[in-house]
Amino acid sequence: MKTEVKTLDFNTDWEYSPALESTDHIHIQEPTDLFISGEFIPGVRGKYFETINPANEEKIANVAEAEKADVDLAVKAARKAYDNVWSKMKPTERGKYIFRIARLIQERAREFAVIESLDGGKPIRESRDVDVPLSAAHFFYYAGWADKLEYAFPGRDAHPVGVAGQIIPWNFPLLMAAWKLAPALATGNTVVLKPAETTPLTAMKLAEIIQECDLPPGVVNIINGGGNTGQALVEHADVDKIAFTGSTEVGKFIMKTVVGTGKKYTLELGGKAANILFDDAPVDQAVEGIVNGIFFNQGHVCCAGSRLFVQENIAENVISKLKERMETLIVGDPLDKNTDIGAINSKIQLDKIKMYVDIGQKEGGSIFQSPCSLPKMGYWHAPTLFTDVSQSHRIVQEEIFGPVLAIQTFRTVDEVIMKANNTPYGLSGGVWTDKGSKIFSLSKKIRAGVIWANTFNKFDPSAPFGGYKESGLGREGGVEGLMPYVNLV
Ligand code: NAD
Repeated sequence: MKTEVKTLDFNTDWEYSPALESTDHIHIQEPTDLFISGEFIPGVRGKYFETINPANEEKIANVAEAEKADVDLAVKAARKAYDNVWSKMKPTERGKYIFRIARLIQERAREFAVIESLDGGKPIRESRDVDVPLSAAHFFYYAGWADKLEYAFPGRDAHPVGVAGQIIPWNFPLLMAAWKLAPALATGNTVVLKPAETTPLTAMKLAEIIQECDLPPGVVNIINGGGNTGQALVEHADVDKIAFTGSTEVGKFIMKTVVGTGKKYTLELGGKAANILFDDAPVDQAVEGIVNGIFFNQGHVCCAGSRLFVQENIAENVISKLKERMETLIVGDPLDKNTDIGAINSKIQLDKIKMYVDIGQKEGGSIFQSPCSLPKMGYWHAPTLFTDVSQSHRIVQEEIFGPVLAIQTFRTVDEVIMKANNTPYGLSGGVWTDKGSKIFSLSKKIRAGVIWANTFNKFDPSAPFGGYKESGLGREGGVEGLMPYVNLV
């Protein structure tokens, strides 16, 4: 029997006038050098690479590339600052510096937001309302812990680990830098941070703030470059801890490198989250949550709700509403405040997404793409969903890291738990239901570090985040986020 599908009237014919965020107030250093021992300096061999705007493929700045010798300089600076200043400083004083960083991020929030959108392609609404405020919140949160470690670890003495080598990805460049730096500094460690090669600019803006705060030279060093630079940092003998966020593939490689060296390590890796929708859930609210779960930040989100499971009896209605909602999403200039979906971060990432969309179709999936017109220059991908896919499809199993949703149906609670857990990953998940009992039951049985209930992609610095299985080791955020940066005696 065919059920009647009720749809919302979104009136998709509306034309919005452009609402462009101005770039007048931003300043980007040209060239952008390495930040070592409190100074901006060129690399030892004077090599530079270009960072481009993925929305128009134009160069934004030349960025100094760190090689082995530069990594060594940065680690030496961090060691000196650790031994002579930072590990000896009173925790209350350390906290003051971290509070200062947080306040300066707030003061220069617009500049950070615009540079984040220019360099990475994400909509200005997201960098303005999510990335930048959450980054400041992270520094505020951990600044508060600096002189309260005895309460975090009652009855134990928490000692810093030493020099931390930190490597981050391109999807939340400033936020990932904040997640890494704040707990490390609060616990008395010094740092060498390496941002991703496609998004170096907000971390270097952060370096300007760190300089302005008078943080003792060498406490934070920020160096740029690709995989080789990251690898040199991981292999450096005088680094005590590696904190890595990125792909599972590189994470496994790093793990093999550091095991047996005595270095501590944490790995925040990929994901393929199940977003589960029961027939008793408020459907319109859930549709918004599904859209946010997969299309936020173009789907470049480790915890994205990329596998949707809908209870079979409501699937037709939900998919129909979802398609209608997708038709209203505005894809375009990241600096336009109307934009919902910005540019794909790089050509390499766009090619990867297209490859998976191709695989999905070849394996028999039915594709729907919102009929948006994509700009001619730059890297773009329409919001996409697949139906008629099953557990064995590659687009259901593998992380795409783009705006592509795979939809399956289920009938019973046990069935959906089994399907949700049938993945090598275990980072996050979502449950939509009216029943609290179902929420508690499911969130215990799904093996994922974070489960959202009747919402998705909600972050708070006091909440720990991290994965099971191939999604990684260790937690960031919350009291738990202090653990990887201390030795307890
Ligand atoms: P990636 O692994 O390619 O790169 C991440 C970082 O590692 C970059 O800075 C890169 O230059 C560096 N790198 C590359 N090869 C290296 C090597 N051999 N040794 C040391 N460093 C090396 O990942 P990506 O494409 O930049 O980011 C996307 C991935 O990050 C996705 O899988 C996503 O799920 C994951 N991610 C996870 C979290 C989390 O908290 N779990 C958060 C954000 C992103």
